[in-house]
Amino acid sequence: MSYCVNCGVELDRTAKRCALCATEVVNPRSPVDTRSPRPFPGYVDRLGAADSRFSALFIVMMWALPSAICVAVNLLFHSSGFWAAYPVGALGLVFLCAGLPALFRRVSVYVFLLIGTCGALAYLYLIELLGPTHGWWAAVALPITLAASASVFVLVALGKRKVRPLYLCCIGMLAPAAVSVAVETTCLLYITGAVTLRWSVIVTVVCLSISLLCLAIGRNSRAMAKLQRRMHI
Ligand SMILES: [Zn+2]
Repeated sequence: MSYCVNCGVELDRTAKRCALCATEVVNPRSPVDTRSPRPFPGYVDRLGAADSRFSALFIVMMWALPSAICVAVNLLFHSSGFWAAYPVGALGLVFLCAGLPALFRRVSVYVFLLIGTCGALAYLYLIELLGPTHGWWAAVALPITLAASASVFVLVALGKRKVRPLYLCCIGMLAPAAVSVAVETTCLLYITGAVTLRWSVIVTVVCLSISLLCLAIGRNSRAMAKLQRRMHI
């Protein structure tokens, strides 16, 4: 029985290379068995290209059908107000964030992030218009949505620049910390008019700890090599 000298997985006796990390198998006591059948197929099957028109129709129907049913039921039982706006708006937001990127794959991800941000703001504004309380959209929803969107923009930009995963994780952990502080600050200002941060401090400390740990591992080449070997990255 042979084991990979790089990642340690057990190797089949017919394997010339590790199936996990592609390290060459060299074991003088147990040469590679070239006669027995290999446990893996000798070819890679390819899936045919997906029918884009069917996919587009399916995605649009997944959004349009429930929306139409909600509006129809609401019109039949209109005594309880125009409640269909909430599910239709939520479905529209899902369509903007998940359906459109699936339909238009060549459009830049930044365009969809912008569309998703505007869609989320529009949906929250709709909730404020239809709801009993007003004034929270500009005071709470707008800054929180913009803070969350800015964090996602930064992470996507870093991901596209091929920043090392650990450094990306290091910077990425700062995003939930910043957003949690923004959420608690805006909510406290809106509700009480004064800011005394509590739970967002705990979130920030946890995120900063993970961020610093990632930074420390990323700067230590031995720890980095060990992590890559353990995680197969
Ligand atoms: Zn291996």
